[in-house]
Amino acid sequence: EGGGEGTNDDNSVRVCVRVRPLNAKEDAAPGATRILRYVGPRSLELVVGEEAKQYSFDLCANEGCSQAEFFSACGLVPLLNAAADGYACTVFAYGATGSGKTFCLSGLEQLQASRGGQGGGGGLQGGAGESEGLVPRSMAHLFERMARSNAAADTRYRVRASYCEVYNEQVFDLLHLQKTPLQVRHNAKRGFFVQGLFEVESLDDMMAVVEEGNGNRRVASHLLNQDSSRSHSILTASLPYYVRPLTVYLQSEWGDAEDGRTIKKFGKAANERETGSINRSLMTLGKVISALSQQGKGVGGGADAPDIWVPYRDSTLTKLLMDSLGGNGLTLMLACISPSAMHLEETTSTLNYAARAR
Ligand code: ADP
Ligand code: MG
Repeated sequence: EGGGEGTNDDNSVRVCVRVRPLNAKEDAAPGATRILRYVGPRSLELVVGEEAKQYSFDLCANEGCSQAEFFSACGLVPLLNAAADGYACTVFAYGATGSGKTFCLSGLEQLQASRGGQGGGGGLQGGAGESEGLVPRSMAHLFERMARSNAAADTRYRVRASYCEVYNEQVFDLLHLQKTPLQVRHNAKRGFFVQGLFEVESLDDMMAVVEEGNGNRRVASHLLNQDSSRSHSILTASLPYYVRPLTVYLQSEWGDAEDGRTIKKFGKAANERETGSINRSLMTLGKVISALSQQGKGVGGGADAPDIWVPYRDSTLTKLLMDSLGGNGLTLMLACISPSAMHLEETTSTLNYAARAR
């Protein structure tokens, strides 16, 4: 089956920015200044005083963008179709705490809680699913697509899924919490993988994974004494026909310097070590995406593409994502930001990080 959904260019890395609405606190802030100006569907300006810096991406979704609109505009559908054809793909949401990553990927937490355990088709029928994010919408799309194809009746609703967290270069299972980190191993058949990761095997369980895993991220931060704003969580979904994972949803947090909490908590030496290690995954991911994007820009692509070293092995995160970031997979990077002047610093770093991938 041909793709035909029209990826807009040859680049295997697509970068979208999503701006969340001002929250009550930001709205009430003295001067309640906005620092973003929308130039068009693909550009925005970061305005600070007299200066405006323009950024261009594949999509700049403003505050009024609904979940359904974002799902169709962000380029996820062609990525899912590639995934269904056997290519490993990655959706990567990042940004400061409170910038909208969970909203973007999962949807409203209140809504998920009230929806109860009945998964069925991901809850997208009827208005109830309105606020659902990219993950449930992706699952609904994939299963619909599989149902239309000639997949055997009893395999078409099967999916394997796992949910883990990379913290300080160590991997923890978000579906089976324990203090001992799991080992990352490598073999020829599977590439890099996490040994002993708990996996669920049905669509209903898959939807429960998102909720349970999200809840466990909070538990983990207590149990393991983690600063939860510095973790990367990885949800991996595989269709049964393939050995390697197809779609990976990654959510990366980074410490927002809201109150200098980290520095107070760990003291300087520990903090530097900690920061160094956590940044290693995010920094390396940035380098990897940037290198892949440079390769994609090679004239004519393919054999003529520039031979650029991609440092996959430099961090735990990029090892685990090696398959889905490299090869023929597609990557969708979602940079989440607030429009408020209160978050100027985080927004600037997020936009600069995202701009490197273009
Ligand atoms: P993060 O996961 O990045 O820490 P969240 O997704 O939890 O941030 O978002 C923080 C708050 O902002 C939540 O209350 C969420 O519901 C709200 N929010 C985020 N993005 C949007 C959006 N696009 N529209 C409406 N509310 C949003
Ligand atoms: Mg979150």
